[in-house]
Amino acid sequence: MYKSIIIGTGPAGLTAAIYLARANMNPLVIEGPEPGGQLTTTTEVENFPGFPEGIMGPELMANMRKQAERFGAEFKTGWVNSVDTSQRPFKLQVEGQGELVAETLIISTGASAKYMGIPGEKDNIGRGVSTCATCDGFFFRGKKIVVVGGGDSAMEEANFLTRFASEVVLVHRREELRASKIMQDRAQVNDKIKWSLNKTPVEVVAGGMGVTGLKVRDNDTGQDEVIETDGLFVAIGHTPNTKFLAGQIETDETGYILVKPGTSETNIPGIFACGDVQDQKYRQAITAAGSGCMAALDCEKFLEGHMVHDWSQSL
Ligand code: NAP
Repeated sequence: MYKSIIIGTGPAGLTAAIYLARANMNPLVIEGPEPGGQLTTTTEVENFPGFPEGIMGPELMANMRKQAERFGAEFKTGWVNSVDTSQRPFKLQVEGQGELVAETLIISTGASAKYMGIPGEKDNIGRGVSTCATCDGFFFRGKKIVVVGGGDSAMEEANFLTRFASEVVLVHRREELRASKIMQDRAQVNDKIKWSLNKTPVEVVAGGMGVTGLKVRDNDTGQDEVIETDGLFVAIGHTPNTKFLAGQIETDETGYILVKPGTSETNIPGIFACGDVQDQKYRQAITAAGSGCMAALDCEKFLEGHMVHDWSQSL
């Protein structure tokens, strides 16, 4: 039995762990298959406050983990198969750990960027392939960039990247864009953006130094061509990691957990959510960390009045 179990070890989960551990709540943190979350798949992080020279993503996450451990957070590795949210204490079935029980839960399982699944894509993450313009755009100053996608994210990322790039080519697999009119208009008046529509990406081309091009297939003619580029931003959406909740917590239609505005409270008392699993707008390490802090404080406050276990016997 734990006072609190935190599921997920990105900036949100680890910040929640630091706060709860420092408040003597001895949280258990469950690490999944991608410990440290999305930041461990990026290289240098230059916009996390406090690191004037920047810091490597994996190092930042390792530091957060150490900080949580220093105050007594416990870590276990395992895949959470299911959670019973029907009554407190909540019961979790965790691969390799069996059943774990907690008075409160903090869900910080994040969202995973979608990839196209074409050859050369995954091998070149951090070597020219990125899913985050805000994180990596700066590294492409004066260079040519390809952005893939036809939704609002692709329009936003393409526009943002023109601040750095000499040229941005937007590749979309259909003639019609999915993005909202206003986002399309903004991209269309930006003369640094070139369009390559109705083209399906088939392969990421790379050499020893990383990405050199994207091979695309014309949907009408079936002809392949390689668009030369220094960087490839895949902006085809994100998937929130909420499958394991099996619909037991209120989400929006795309699976993002709904929290009460200005809080980390879900529709189930005692269950809190933070980070990208409840945020499809900002998706930054610093906003995730901030929301992790909120979840810890909300959780602590909740426990003041709602303990089901007699903790005096456990001391
Ligand atoms: P999205 O709307 O689902 O668009 C994904 C795009 O990627 C679609 O154009 C899709 O093509 C394309 N795509 C999907 N799988 C692909 C694949 N395997 N290969 C090539 N292309 C692929 O996702 P999003 O743009 O991330 O937006 C998600 C939500 O966030 C939306 O509701 C959006 O409005 C919102 N959002 C809002 C803002 C803003 O207002 N500032 C910014 C970002 C996102 P098809 O069109 O052919 O399906």
